[in-house]
Formats: sequence, C-alpha cells, structure tokens
Amino acid sequence: MSNIRRGSGQTFKRLSKSLGLIEGYGGRGKGGLPATLSPAEEEKAKGPHEKYGYNSYLSEKISLDRSIPDYRPTKCKELKYAKELPQISIIFIFVNEALSVILRSVHSAVNHTPTHLLKEIILVDDNSDEEELKAPLEEYVHKRYPGLVKVVRNQKREGLIRARIEGWKAATGQVTGFFDAHVEFTAGWAEPVLSRIQENRKRVILPSIDNIKQDTFEVQRYENSAHGYSWELWCMYISPPKDWWDAGDPSLPIRTPAMIGCSFVVNRKFFGEIGLLDPGMDVYGGENIELGIKVWLCGGSMEVLPCSRVAHIERKKKPYNSNIGFYTKRNALRVAEVWMDDYKSHVYIAWNLPLENPGIDIGDVSERRALRRSLKCKNFQWYLDHVYPEMRRYNNTIAYGELRNNKAKDVCLDQGPLENHTAILYPCHGWGPQVGAISDQERSKCRGPQGICGTSGTFHRLLLG
Ligand code: UDP
Ligand code: MN
Repeated sequence: MSNIRRGSGQTFKRLSKSLGLIEGYGGRGKGGLPATLSPAEEEKAKGPHEKYGYNSYLSEKISLDRSIPDYRPTKCKELKYAKELPQISIIFIFVNEALSVILRSVHSAVNHTPTHLLKEIILVDDNSDEEELKAPLEEYVHKRYPGLVKVVRNQKREGLIRARIEGWKAATGQVTGFFDAHVEFTAGWAEPVLSRIQENRKRVILPSIDNIKQDTFEVQRYENSAHGYSWELWCMYISPPKDWWDAGDPSLPIRTPAMIGCSFVVNRKFFGEIGLLDPGMDVYGGENIELGIKVWLCGGSMEVLPCSRVAHIERKKKPYNSNIGFYTKRNALRVAEVWMDDYKSHVYIAWNLPLENPGIDIGDVSERRALRRSLKCKNFQWYLDHVYPEMRRYNNTIAYGELRNNKAKDVCLDQGPLENHTAILYPCHGWGPQVGAISDQERSKCRGPQGICGTSGTFHRLLLG
C-alpha cells in the first residue's frame, strides 16, 4: 500500500465499527479474491443486492482498505515520474449507493494517491434518499480525513452529468478526476495520469478499467482497450488502434475516440474552456461520447493509460431510474444535433426514429452549437477519418423507412434472425420495435466488457444501401 494515513489507529477502527464497517488490508475479499457469505448471511444479502445492483451486504464484510491486485503491465512498474506533478481533486458522484461502497472508494483513493498530489476529495450527493448518506457519511469522512473531504449536496436530482459539473465547481486542484462512487484504485494509478496532463494540458486521460464483480467483489482484469460506441451512442470497449499494437509496448497510452465515463481525469481549467459536459443532458448517457468527440475536434485528445488502473463495479441494475434508454436516446440526439453534421442521421436511424420531427424534446442546443463555433472545432468527418475510422458508415443509404407488401398490406420487409442475415416478412410495426426492445438490463452492460451492446437488434426498420 502506498500511503495509509495513519492517525490513531484504534480511534479510526472504532469510527468505522460504529457504522458496522471494517478497516485494514486483510479479511474477506483481500487481494481482490472473491468474497463469500454464509448461507444465513446470503438470505439477508438478497434484498439489498436487488436494490443496489451489487452485493452491498457482502461489501460491508469487506475491509474499506482491502488490497487488490496490481494488474499493470510489467513495464509500468519501472517507469519513473517527476516529483513535481499537478495536484488532483478527486470527485465522486453518487445517488443511493451503499455507504460501504462509497467509503471504500474514498479510502482507496486516499490509500493509493500520494499525499502531496491529493488536493481534496469531493463527494457529490445527487439528492440521495438514504439517511445513512446524510449525517453518518458526512461525520465519518470529516473525522476520518479532517480537512480533506468536501461534501456537496444537490437540492434536487440532477443526473450524473450535472452532478459531475457541480463537483467540478467545488474543486480547487489543478487537475480534476471524475469517478463513479463504486471504484477501487491501485498503487501508482495517479502518477502516470498527472504526468501526461503535465506534459500537455489538453489531454483527457482515462485510467484503464478493471471489473469488480457485483456478486463477489472479485477484481477481474480487463484487456487493454480503447472506448468506442455504436451509432446509438452506447459505449463499449474496442480494440486499441493498429499503431498501438504495432509499437509492441503495452504500457503506452491508447488513443481512444470516446470514454466509458466512470473514470476520467482532466486539467480543471481546460475542462472549463471546452465547455465541461453538456449541462442540457439529463440523468445518464451521451456525455461520455460528447466529451470524446468534442475534445478531439476542439484541439485536445483522449487516451487510456494501461499503467493507471481503477476497478469499477459493473452493476446488474441501476438503483435510480428504470428508463435509462429514454435518457440515453435524448442525450444522444443532442450530441448528434451539435456535433455530427451530415452524420447525425446515423443516430436517428440507429434509434429507429424518423429523421424529421422524432417526437422527442431534446431541449435547447443553441449554446452548445455556439460553443462549437467559438472553439473553432473541426468537423465530424475529420473525427471519423482520423480518430474513429473503425466506425461503420452508411453513406450510400438510398432509402430509410418501411417497405410494405402491396398485396398483403400488413406485412413489411424486416430484419430476420441475426445469425443468417436474411430479411423476412414481418407484421409492420411503424416506428416501434420489432420484437421487444432491448431491455435496460442488457443496455446496462454497455459500459461492460467487449461491446455486447452494439447495434444488433436495433435496426428494425429497413436500411437500403
Ligand atoms: N449517478 C448520479 N445521478 C444520477 C445517476 C447516477 O449521481 O441521476 C451516479 C451514480 O451513483 C454513479 C455514477 O453516477 O456513481 C454513474 O452511474 P452508474 O454507475 O449507474 O453507471 P454505469 O457505471 O453503470 O454506467
Ligand atoms: Mn458505475
């Protein structure tokens, strides 16, 4: 462990114990191994597991300081960094997360960020309902880490995008790092990130993400990846670009077109200059793609660092809103309208929407368009050519709509089974989905491994090209 803040160990132990929590490196789940519960405990765990989308009862049995494996490529451990690096403000946002999980994120940030580089930790409560996240959380962090942690409370639910912006406003470090409140950091995560930003303040840096399994809290290594997305703007892990593979050095930064979003670090002032995240976006989704597109088009860059690793719980359901799909769609249309020029139709088609009057109120995008003009950003074609060449383009589409059978008027040409790529006749269903839309649960995997959330099953209408 790089840096446990020691004070009076016994006092701290009593403090965590008063919340039913545990400190120290060992115990269940140490070293990132799967943790288990007794059959009787498992019964108790079921309810909260459903509520939070991860096994929060088990989390309470795992130490706030547990060790996790060092999954960095070997070479990373030999690299040296300047002593003088910019300080970071670490911002966690949360709504209705389990207290033990938030506190493990905080402990882990303190334990693994060198003291002289950690300016502060900011906790943004996006108007949670749980009592334990009010006074108990606040008293704990102030006693445990005096002067280090700021708590910001949103008076109403703002969604993750504006919650991050609130955290940014409260930050004073030269660099700001944004994380979900269910992560664990590993040794040496901060230095390579801060070093890349010190070299060039216009880089947005993404620590590599590993997975904390939501049922056992086992820490599982993910492959080196860039972060891409489908035309619906669901993000997914993609293979790093060819030049990264050709260089043959797994410690090198990986150029990435966008970000998954649960972990990113950026110079505080530069982030402000490029317009933060789009405050007109609600709840969830789209902001992570917008930032990627924007930073590339407006003079900066985005990269994943294999030498910096943060583990994140990929939960099985979200505790805050069952209609993630709607918000992601709305936010995606904002991205399309502001940034995508002639390619914006791709987003409408991917969401199975009419190109004109799709019937979704996306709010006012004029300020975002003005931002793009004032920053003199490049066009989307440049981005596709240089940053995301892997993205499939549908430039020779000759028609988009419904092909109805003249003789049997209630059947249309439609998408057949995915395996054999053949069109079929299927009852016409207008703009609605063909067979049950993809569930939110499947969608939630989109920020998960290897792009299972691609466009499959979403092109219900006919695309002739
Ligand atoms: N969050 C928030 N307000 C919201 C929705 C989410 O503050 O309205 C927080 C949430 O607690 C988490 C982060 O935003 O820390 C990202 O959400 P989540 O982890 O559910 O997204 P995922 O990682 O599954 O894509
Ligand atoms: Mn998350």
